[in-house]
Amino acid sequence: MQNDYFPSEKVEQIRHFLSDASHIVILTHMSPDGDAMGSSLALYHWLKSQGTGVALIVPNRFPSFFQWMPGVGDIIVYDERKAEADALLAAADLMLCTDFNEPKRIGQVADRMLENPCPKVLIDHHLHPADFADVTLSYPSSPSASQLVYLLLSTINYQLSTSLHPQLSTLNLSVATCIYTGMMTDTGNFSFNSNHPEMYEILAELVRAGVDKDAVYNAVFNAYSADRMRLVGYCLYSKMRIFPEHHAALVCLSRKELYRFRFQTGDAEGIVNMPLQISDVRYSCFMREDKLEPHERERAGNAKTKVKISFRSQGDRPVNVFAADWFHGGGHANAAGGEFYGTVAEAAQCFLDHYQDYFRKD
Ligand code: 5GP
Ligand code: MN
Repeated sequence: MQNDYFPSEKVEQIRHFLSDASHIVILTHMSPDGDAMGSSLALYHWLKSQGTGVALIVPNRFPSFFQWMPGVGDIIVYDERKAEADALLAAADLMLCTDFNEPKRIGQVADRMLENPCPKVLIDHHLHPADFADVTLSYPSSPSASQLVYLLLSTINYQLSTSLHPQLSTLNLSVATCIYTGMMTDTGNFSFNSNHPEMYEILAELVRAGVDKDAVYNAVFNAYSADRMRLVGYCLYSKMRIFPEHHAALVCLSRKELYRFRFQTGDAEGIVNMPLQISDVRYSCFMREDKLEPHERERAGNAKTKVKISFRSQGDRPVNVFAADWFHGGGHANAAGGEFYGTVAEAAQCFLDHYQDYFRKD
């Protein structure tokens, strides 16, 4: 693949950091999605294959449909193993950050990351990266952070191609499978953000390296529980509100409703996309009430609950500005999110009070 994708001085600096480091920590964003998992695990497998000491820390639990991914057993979930993670963060001599643009997106891990003055490298595709890393590879035009990891690894002379490495090792296949997973999930199985010819050249390389793309699809998208399927049915049948004039849909779930369907991490994944299957719906919003973590109490004021909000849209209809203006959030033009401190009914009212200022009628 291309070797001139990133400025050579940045690649040189990363190479230099890597050769000096022996206690590397990889970090990725809260509520990890397939791209967070894929980009961070790919780096993890690659560094292990080089014999480098490396740990991967994620802020909180990842959904069960990523449990099959190679290396997940080595992941340290910060929420569950704080002391061990804090020790690794304090001892790190290099941190590699993937798929997030500002420290806030790694929750409580942010302070521990910033306290350690070691070099940091950011590999990301969100808009407006905060200035916290020594080398920032920020490419919002890239469909996934995993694709950037592929380009970086191939730039530092790593070849996945079987023709160059006839004895393909398991580690190489692990790197390729993790990268594929991130590229697949962040493009909705190549159904949005997916008109990049070079992406298909990379995909061909990954399949050539042995990735079983059909198996990856099956493991990620056909792995839900019966409870989750019933929750989806409930959302669409009983909870979906449509605002025809603005081509918008809204689905809100309270804590009580989530409890009724035995909600598990990851069960809400994909629900926000569903109303867009309706021909006239071009904006979709999904809200889910969540419990407040102790470290969020100060930020939340008097509120006892927070609401996690997801936005999706089609074409030239940005939703990230609405997310930033009213829900402490942001993201991409067509896929954004944020939070609201209060009940889901209050969050829905905030949406109802303001969506007309942000959503087009045509
Ligand atoms: P999701 O709806 O899948 O949780 O998030 C979609 C996108 O919205 C993410 O890739 C991220 O860019 C953005 N996003 C989600 N939640 C937040 C948030 O709380 N703050 C910010 N700044 N962006 C968010
Ligand atoms: Mn991503």
